[in-house]
Amino acid sequence: MLPIIAQVALDLPVPRLFDYLAPTLTSADVGRRVCVPFGRKTLIGIVLSVGHNTEHPIDRLKAISHTLDDGAILSAEIRKLLRFCSDYYHYPLGATMLSALPTALRKDQPYTIKTTSAWQLTALGRTAELPARAHRQRALHALLADGQLHPTSTLAATSGYRNLLKQWLDAGWVSVHLTTAPLNNQTTHADTPPALNAEQAAALAQISAAAGQFIAFLLHGVTGSGKTEVYLHAVAHALAQGGQALILLPEINLTPQLTGVFRARFPTTEIATLNSGMNDGDRLQHWLAASTGRARIVLGTRLAVFTPMPQLALIIIDEEHDSSFYQQDSLRYAARDVAIIRAQQRNIPIVLGSATPALETWRNAQTGRYQRLSLTQRAVSAATLPRIQLIDLRTQKCDAGISPALSTAIQQRLDLAQQSLVFINRRGYAPTLICRACGWNAGCPRCSARLVVHLRDKQLRCHHCGYAQRVPHACPDCGNVDISPTGLGTQRLEEKLQQQFPTARVLRIDRDSTRRKDSWTTMQQQIRAGEVDILIGTQLLAKGHDFPNLTLVGVIDADSALYSPDFRASERLFSQLMQVSGRAGRAQHAGEVLIQTEFITHPLYRTLQQHDYIGYAKTLLNERRSASFPPFIHQAVLRAEAEHVQDALAFLSEAKALAPINEHINLFDPTPAALTRKANVERALLLVQSPNRRALQGFLQEWISSVYKMKASTLRWHLDVDPWEI
Ligand code: ADP
Ligand code: ZN
Ligand code: ZN
Repeated sequence: MLPIIAQVALDLPVPRLFDYLAPTLTSADVGRRVCVPFGRKTLIGIVLSVGHNTEHPIDRLKAISHTLDDGAILSAEIRKLLRFCSDYYHYPLGATMLSALPTALRKDQPYTIKTTSAWQLTALGRTAELPARAHRQRALHALLADGQLHPTSTLAATSGYRNLLKQWLDAGWVSVHLTTAPLNNQTTHADTPPALNAEQAAALAQISAAAGQFIAFLLHGVTGSGKTEVYLHAVAHALAQGGQALILLPEINLTPQLTGVFRARFPTTEIATLNSGMNDGDRLQHWLAASTGRARIVLGTRLAVFTPMPQLALIIIDEEHDSSFYQQDSLRYAARDVAIIRAQQRNIPIVLGSATPALETWRNAQTGRYQRLSLTQRAVSAATLPRIQLIDLRTQKCDAGISPALSTAIQQRLDLAQQSLVFINRRGYAPTLICRACGWNAGCPRCSARLVVHLRDKQLRCHHCGYAQRVPHACPDCGNVDISPTGLGTQRLEEKLQQQFPTARVLRIDRDSTRRKDSWTTMQQQIRAGEVDILIGTQLLAKGHDFPNLTLVGVIDADSALYSPDFRASERLFSQLMQVSGRAGRAQHAGEVLIQTEFITHPLYRTLQQHDYIGYAKTLLNERRSASFPPFIHQAVLRAEAEHVQDALAFLSEAKALAPINEHINLFDPTPAALTRKANVERALLLVQSPNRRALQGFLQEWISSVYKMKASTLRWHLDVDPWEI
């Protein structure tokens, strides 16, 4: 008899699969978890094929230890998607496969789907007669008549109802039985959807008509135009047809508030949420609920793009331009691009929503690869787009970063009991600490970055590697005691604003003040309840939050991005300012935005004033075209990290010498990374680009397979395809 051999994917940094003897397996076990011996360890792997062939001598093969679960954990569809990712991003197939599993499934343990007991009306209970005035009893009865009641329901947890349930159990009106534990607390509150306006309805009609076909839509809608409402309707449509919907959100947008919006609209639907902040147990339960088809809606961050969903019928990516869709380690992928491939492979529609689409996306809409849907008006009829004014910093003298014009505008809002947001794109008290006597400045001993002063805890922190030390009392070089922070950070601004407006309630929102798990949620409630007058915020605040009483946005210190060496910096700045401007005047009050700048004639600010994303996109695309930058060319970066940058550079030079270049490929020279030292390693990079994606892919495949064969024992390297930053 021929031996049965399984090819197993393992989470190892080598681009190959591993063969094991697997006498009990059949082709039905492809996609299943197995436990295998590897060296002196045992590893969890995924079976990718079962057959009779191997390139190794049979007597050298080991046998798998055991199988796990009843069958495949990764469906054929997800395996195909992961295979694509492994090929496209040139990342080992085994590691790619395993990265799609929640942590709990990467252990040698069977999973169990959590169960709970629930109450249900018996036949007797269903016919029970209740007195007309027994409101509590009638409410409970109505709820039970609708379906089962879980102990997590707020009603079931209320003491009065607990007693009633106990009585009814004794009377034989209700019975207790075991059921899968719901992912969400039961809610009794349901929202009725507003009627869509004409543009929303037109967008929805196109998306709904695309059911069962691959069409990529770009839903381009100004902030406040009601994109969320279009998503909700499109999801409802997909669910009504028996489908599941996957909604990908930027990390910061996956707040209880948005989950709440979906829960209220789909109160009887199980909604799985998936993000890296969940504990392993919860994440497993949500993942399983999605992959068994029980959860009809999945709301998640980028990692959710790989969730198996047997009835997947619609994918939505909100704020598709957001950088959090880029995974920056292990498998380096862009969730937006992977989602497009997934929709294509499955033949379903996908909607990319944004007020400021990524230029790549915009270009795809222009060339007709994506179909554009536009929402040009704010959805709430009284809400108009805010007026954007530029404050010329060459003529206005600032006090701690705040111009007289901005100060006056804030005072006006205080008088009207409206809220202001002062937006600054940095955190910490001040970016750096310098000595005016000798020019010393506080640098990170582990990175080439400067340390940032955090006054509250008297620390200097490195925002790149996390290094921290106490703020010194005197200059370590010359002993000068007059060392002072320069620049402006959120904490300094907070102090200043509090001095200027002593009775105002000032709230600072940045990564430091929101570090605690629920603090951001609490802050949002405070803002909505009107307990805050002046908000100070970083990019955290720019995105998708809706504060009806916020009517003024002041932007401080935006100019630095204009002259950044990063060719995407102005795209990011535009989109960030557009987003943050969108925070003003979303309800009945008109909004105003004041931008402080030294460059009032810069086209970025000019087009921003006109809310003219399309105009700015055109300018930027022209620049990109003439400079041969993405999206007009395709890039990949080979990065190396070593203790000394020379070693990283030497490795890259050696790799370059192996490169099978041809006339379509432009391979540059190795160079130290902009931030050379980071967390005690030094980094260098080698950029390759081509106007032709296919040519680039062909080149990479050949090249990277020879790079894998290079000796690099003390050095780490990886490839970044379509990098977000270079
Ligand atoms: P976006 O995501 O495009 O920035 P939102 O979806 O947050 O905009 O919608 C902005 C506001 O308009 C929300 O308060 C929303 O409830 C409201 N809204 C959306 N669509 C409608 C509609 N058709 N009728 C009335 N209000 C709407
Ligand atoms: Zn000094
Ligand atoms: Zn550092």
